[in-house]
Amino acid sequence: MVLVLVALSLVIPGCGWPGQNGEGGVQEELPPAPEAGPAPGEPSLGEGELSAHFIDVGQGDSILLRLPNGESVLIDAGDNGASSTVIAYLKVQGIAHIHHLIATHPHADHIGGMAAVIREFSVGEVYMPRTSHTTITYERLLLAIQEKGLRITEARAGVTMLDEPGLRASFLAPFPREGLSLNDSSAVLKVEYGSVSLLFTGDAEAESEGHMLLSSSMSPRADILKAGHHGSQSSSSEVFLEAVSPSIAIISAGEGNSYGHPHKEVLERLQGMKVEILRTDLHGTIVITTGGESFSVKTERESPG
Ligand SMILES: [Zn+2]
Repeated sequence: MVLVLVALSLVIPGCGWPGQNGEGGVQEELPPAPEAGPAPGEPSLGEGELSAHFIDVGQGDSILLRLPNGESVLIDAGDNGASSTVIAYLKVQGIAHIHHLIATHPHADHIGGMAAVIREFSVGEVYMPRTSHTTITYERLLLAIQEKGLRITEARAGVTMLDEPGLRASFLAPFPREGLSLNDSSAVLKVEYGSVSLLFTGDAEAESEGHMLLSSSMSPRADILKAGHHGSQSSSSEVFLEAVSPSIAIISAGEGNSYGHPHKEVLERLQGMKVEILRTDLHGTIVITTGGESFSVKTERESPG
């Protein structure tokens, strides 16, 4: 990534979320080459473009990646009640087959909607960290995987999901350790397209961040960071943020959630580093589109603040 310091915010009237009359979307373009990307919910994707859709699923995570090679990736599927939102969003995007499905870790706000997604779509590879969890939600997911005869690939540091000229996706974590919490066992995926990089951290907390920093095999540096654990102060440690050095941090959290996510300590850390913050609880669904050089951001709503 050559550039990218100051993001220019533009309100584009009439570019809002389909069905929300009169509400303008927000487009941010980073110089030098503004790239037109699809607004949230719009299915179009230009040739040679990668888009990352941080779907507003309330308190939880669900991220759709549409890759320039035509493949799709779904990272998490929100809580149980979010499955219809995720399924509808993928259908609007014209997704029939999910090439790579990633369950970052077994907590319900990440995998609750996934069994329904698996039943609804054709699915290729499933990636999960090697953990165990005894909830009905997790068992339901494993059952759906089994019923479809899908193969599970262990997500762990060093596993490469995709490696093509100019496009690479690999797991930076977890580093399996005794006594690792479920959050710190989160699959962390780094996607690099051209000179643009994106880091998806699930609910990885400071311990996993520390493992990533100590690893010499792959740098966590990324232009776009999906901040860990919904912006909890147990994640996004200062040293980790400095190493990632993102231009934009995306926080996926539910409006008025009972955890107080995102925590003000994390917001202050990011602000102190001049990282632009985008939040699904404020902005709704957030879409980042890149042709591999610069990237553009569109949000479902303009932030009320
Ligand atoms: Zn979570």
